[in-house]
Amino acid sequence: MTAQLIDGAALAREIRSRVTHRTAALRARGVVPALAIVLVGDDPASQVYTRHKVNDSAETGLAATLERHPREMSEAQLVARILALNVDPAVHGILVQLPLPAHIDAHRVIEAIDPAKDVDGFHMGNAGALLVGQPGFWPCTPYGCMQMLESIGCDLRGKHAVVIGRSNIVGKPMALMLLQQSATVTICHSATADLAAHTRSADVVVAAVGRRNILTAAMVKPGAVVIDVGMNRDDAGRLCGDVDFDGVRAVAGWITPVPGGVGPMTRAMLLVNTLQAAENAAPAQAR
Ligand code: NAP
Repeated sequence: MTAQLIDGAALAREIRSRVTHRTAALRARGVVPALAIVLVGDDPASQVYTRHKVNDSAETGLAATLERHPREMSEAQLVARILALNVDPAVHGILVQLPLPAHIDAHRVIEAIDPAKDVDGFHMGNAGALLVGQPGFWPCTPYGCMQMLESIGCDLRGKHAVVIGRSNIVGKPMALMLLQQSATVTICHSATADLAAHTRSADVVVAAVGRRNILTAAMVKPGAVVIDVGMNRDDAGRLCGDVDFDGVRAVAGWITPVPGGVGPMTRAMLLVNTLQAAENAAPAQAR
């Protein structure tokens, strides 16, 4: 068997196109959906990511501003800046680019964001909403993975889904989203005794570790859906995922490539969340 590709780049294009139409409708009502991106310091990867976010926003009609602050900025100054953005009616989404410099507590900073503007979905209010199945912003990466599963018509009810990784931004919310769709969910992590024993019985595997070849062909049930969240570099310096792509592709039913899989979907879901935040605020604003 050769797995079919789940083309994240193509799906992300479709989503961006839908965002563009919804944005235009909102603008016609006098509301310009706006995202404030806050970058502290000069981490090279963060600079690339924030540039992408600004460009993606511009392409879909969202107004994004990127504010750069020196790495010496204090936590109190950053929190004060966020509180100001919270009460600015022209700002619908606030994103603080992580990682923050070591002297700043990222948790305290995220908690300062108004949950209604927390388009990354990292605030405890949104994490809690996901836990109890209430509306809120979902973290963009697992949200994008769920869209990919939906795009292939994957009915998760009663399926065994294995999530490898338990971070607050990927693994845990991913597991909750799968559970919400009535999958039977196993979460694996660095202390899991026999990873392969779990993955071999999985109908869906989501690998979110950050280690090349954590999932190989021998660990995958024939026909399974494999979602590769990982972002690593191979020996030649090329971007690769957590999954041994060539090996697993010969066994799985569906697989996401890296690059061109989860990455573009993560970017697209930020636009969806920002637009949603603006739409949520719009009735009051547009009156
Ligand atoms: P993270 O916070 O470092 O979490 C990694 C998780 O992997 C941890 O829960 C860790 O377990 C688990 N783990 C480590 N070694 C393991 C092993 N041998 N077996 C099983 N589990 C193991 O990373 P993250 O932020 O969730 O990101 C994971 C990967 O996804 C990274 O490569 C990151 O770059 C990538 N990513 C990609 C996107 C995208 O848009 N494509 C977005 C976000 C992240 P413990 O909890 O026990 O330590």
